[in-house]
Amino acid sequence: MAPGVNGKKVSPEEEHPVKVFGLVSRDSSGHLSPFSFSRRNTGDNDVAIKILYCGICHSDLHSLKNEWRNTVYPIVPGHEIAGVVAEVGSKVQKFKVGDKVGVGCMVNSCQSCDNCGQGFENYCPQIILTYNSIDKDGSMTYGGYSNMVVVDQNYVIRFPENLPLDKGAPLLCAGITVYSPMKYHGLNEPGKHLGVIGLGGLGHVAVKFGKAFGMKVTVISSSPAKEKEAIERLGADAFLVSTKPEQMQAAINSMDGIINTVSASHAILPYFPLLKCTGKIIILGLPEKPFEVPAFSLVMGGKSLGGSCIGGIKDTQEMLDFAGKHNITADIELIGADYVNKALERLLKADVRYRLVIDIANTLTAA
Ligand code: NAP
Ligand code: ZN
Ligand code: ZN
Repeated sequence: MAPGVNGKKVSPEEEHPVKVFGLVSRDSSGHLSPFSFSRRNTGDNDVAIKILYCGICHSDLHSLKNEWRNTVYPIVPGHEIAGVVAEVGSKVQKFKVGDKVGVGCMVNSCQSCDNCGQGFENYCPQIILTYNSIDKDGSMTYGGYSNMVVVDQNYVIRFPENLPLDKGAPLLCAGITVYSPMKYHGLNEPGKHLGVIGLGGLGHVAVKFGKAFGMKVTVISSSPAKEKEAIERLGADAFLVSTKPEQMQAAINSMDGIINTVSASHAILPYFPLLKCTGKIIILGLPEKPFEVPAFSLVMGGKSLGGSCIGGIKDTQEMLDFAGKHNITADIELIGADYVNKALERLLKADVRYRLVIDIANTLTAA
């Protein structure tokens, strides 16, 4: 029981009367299976969204397998949500039924701290993530591997008319996660040289944003087979294989900044020499093991190591509008809901070009 409207105690069924279905994992095997659950009614400030597509982010995989030691089971992942508005609350003015919208990694925050006030809801100490978080009513949040979601209007992003929902869905996490650090670390200026480590979901959209900003972009990858596509299809200017010392050596002292999107534990030391003096490496990937960073690698050349977590709501809207203007979408493989476990196996092996997106509306069925 929890306090309801006017402090009246309400039962979980009254609080969450809307029947929904999705894909759940009940343990750290991460295996997904059909699940029926409930969501709250559309509140005054809420938008109910019929989910059409949901991208599969590597964070979903880390969470499903409890690699960050914070997963609460059962878990319904998914935070690259694209769909259409099905219902709006009485105080919602920004959206109407039928609008094309998206939801990323967060569905609420305190809305009153300094970080929220500055548009950095992503750094709010009370951020409520789209899944595996405790919602304002005390229930666990369940994500976008499901047929509908109810979200506070302030955390809903509008899709530009020309941006397709399937190829646009991954921008709600992968897109903003690379756009925000590029913006705040001056890695969006024409003529500058950006390095992108890891050509996966995040990495391939980083290449596209970098090129749209007018930068020189070099991909640094552990997969030589991705070179042709990186240059011919994604528009990268150069491609380095991280395991080939002669290629790394030829690129020393050349990059203004590097964003590191690698999901697996790896050595970061070999990347510092690629930076010009005062250059930065921004960590986005979240492997389990800590990095080893000798002081000399930073001190010599005045280099910095930073990190960044998704992005604020205003920036997410700005990113999606920018993507609409420059026709930036993810390169996706659209999959059926019944393929999702196989999809996760492939993601683990970096065998994805470059984002898997679940065709929720056409393939997800009730348990
Ligand atoms: P992804 O599609 O799996 O891409 C990760 C890439 O890392 C792979 O394509 C691969 O690129 C490289 N890689 C994988 N294993 C490697 C290894 N053992 N050694 C070297 N490189 C390896 O994953 P993603 O969805 O882009 O997410 C990337 C990471 O960012 C994940 O850890 C995810 O949790 C994290 N993330 C963080 C935020 C944030 O807010 N900071 C948001 C979203 C995701 P190559 O084949 O080119 O080497
Ligand atoms: Zn993500
Ligand atoms: Zn806050």
